[in-house]
Amino acid sequence: MLLEVAAIETFYGPSQALFGVDLNVREGEAVALMGRNGMGKTTTIRSIMGLAPARMGSITFAGKSIAGRPAFRIARLGLGLVPEGRRCFRNLTVRENLVAAARPGRWTVAGVHDLFPRLAEREGQYADTLSGGEQQMLAIGRALMTNPRLLILDEATEGLAPVIRRDIWSAIRTLKQEGQSILVVDKTMAELLPVADRCVVLEKGRSVWHGTPTELTTTLQDRYLGV
Ligand code: ATP
Repeated sequence: MLLEVAAIETFYGPSQALFGVDLNVREGEAVALMGRNGMGKTTTIRSIMGLAPARMGSITFAGKSIAGRPAFRIARLGLGLVPEGRRCFRNLTVRENLVAAARPGRWTVAGVHDLFPRLAEREGQYADTLSGGEQQMLAIGRALMTNPRLLILDEATEGLAPVIRRDIWSAIRTLKQEGQSILVVDKTMAELLPVADRCVVLEKGRSVWHGTPTELTTTLQDRYLGV
């Protein structure tokens, strides 16, 4: 098992956001983390990354306990985060953003350019001149440049134009085919389910359902994911 999250509970000050989340990702697997707004997906990811440390439960990555470690150490163990809101360094160029994140491995600037040719076309531009979709591509590229063992995408395509969404899903499918381990949050079921090997559903800060996309029937989707 690459990532094992067991019974985590996380608080923001006095207010409890997670009440027991279990989640596993095996090497090479793509796992979809699902649930309606405010159910705890981002908090689960922030807990894994050490940005909102879990107060209870355990988190193991590649056999090492990572709960309680500082975020930068957790990232260095091989977790690459694409955070909600596609953050990059806005006053650096596209190329500088990629180079600044680089760690040795399969992913290089050239590899990221192959995955997202638009970034190659814009390599000299400052990140703050990119469209939202291009910034998301850059955020994914940055995470890949760290050569992560696990890539975590929080809201992979939220708020992006349909043609950009299509490019991003196509890139995620390419990564998956290459054997990249992925944990992904997104609201577009039609795109998310085909790439996922397994799904974990959160409700009110608890993981309430685990299964394969085919097991996630429309009845279950209505119950846990419907608006
Ligand atoms: P969304 O899809 O809307 O981002 P989510 O499933 O990612 O939702 P979280 O953002 O993890 O959900 O929120 C889980 C709970 O924690 C919610 O009740 C939310 O109000 C609360 N919460 C999130 N961030 C904070 C914070 N910084 N301070 C206090 N409470 C927070």
